[in-house]
Amino acid sequence: RTVYVNGDYLPEAEAKVSVFDRGFLMADGVYEVTSVLDGKLIDFDGHAKRLHRSLSELDMAAPCTDEELLAMHRELVVLNGIDQGMIYLQVTRGNPGDRSFVFPDASVKPTIVAFTQNIPNLADAPAAKTGFKVISIPDIRWGRRDIKTVQLLYPSMGKMMAKKAGVDDSWFVEDGAVTEGTSNNAYIVKGNKIITRQLTSDILHGITRASVLRFAAEAQFEVEERPFTIAEAQAADEAFSTAASIFVMPVVEIDGQAVGTGKPGPVATRLREIYLDEMRKAAL
Ligand code: PLP
Repeated sequence: RTVYVNGDYLPEAEAKVSVFDRGFLMADGVYEVTSVLDGKLIDFDGHAKRLHRSLSELDMAAPCTDEELLAMHRELVVLNGIDQGMIYLQVTRGNPGDRSFVFPDASVKPTIVAFTQNIPNLADAPAAKTGFKVISIPDIRWGRRDIKTVQLLYPSMGKMMAKKAGVDDSWFVEDGAVTEGTSNNAYIVKGNKIITRQLTSDILHGITRASVLRFAAEAQFEVEERPFTIAEAQAADEAFSTAASIFVMPVVEIDGQAVGTGKPGPVATRLREIYLDEMRKAAL
């Protein structure tokens, strides 16, 4: 693979970042994942906008303009011949030359790294046909989940707990209600209504979520933004998750209990189709 590091496109074996980089020592950094379909970027503007918000919430300067960011994403797609897959972008607070809890001054430039992941069947992933099974686990993450930081140890542990339980993902629960999945936003469907938690610092403001809710409203679904419990989700007609990497993914089982028929439902299936169609048309 050819990867991007601080302005250079290099073979992955030649790309280097300092051991003093604050991303490495302190998880002091933010990231974005943008999917690629037909060699084009899905929802790039949304991801660029959220990157700026994450950076500004952490008092980090933007490392480049949006035009440069777009050009770099496109260059990586071309250099790596990606038809379907993802671009991972990470910006960390850089290398102050030593370890300290104090943020370095502006003379220390952020470190930007980006690479591609080639996933030839991203749009018609087999998992979308069977749906995800999930378990619920306590949400013990920090209180600023709206910032997309690289501090992903607990979500990673959540994925491992799911794996050990023989399922696909974990949904986090806090104060009796679902916050989100390890790396996706969570929804339930009741009749014509789509229910998902409202945007606060309790969850990541998913870029896929914003687009899916817009398409849902356009398709005459009612959208209700509020917390829901695991019991309510188990009794719902359908459940699903969204993220850039999975688009709209039906959730067919929660804590061993089938949701609805236990198969991907018509609403999640339809929203996935609309999402893929519309986003492909608008891809950059
Ligand atoms: N929630 C969490 C915790 C995530 O990590 C992610 C994506 O990685 C999402 C939600 C979905 O966000 P997006 O739709 O922008 O990919």
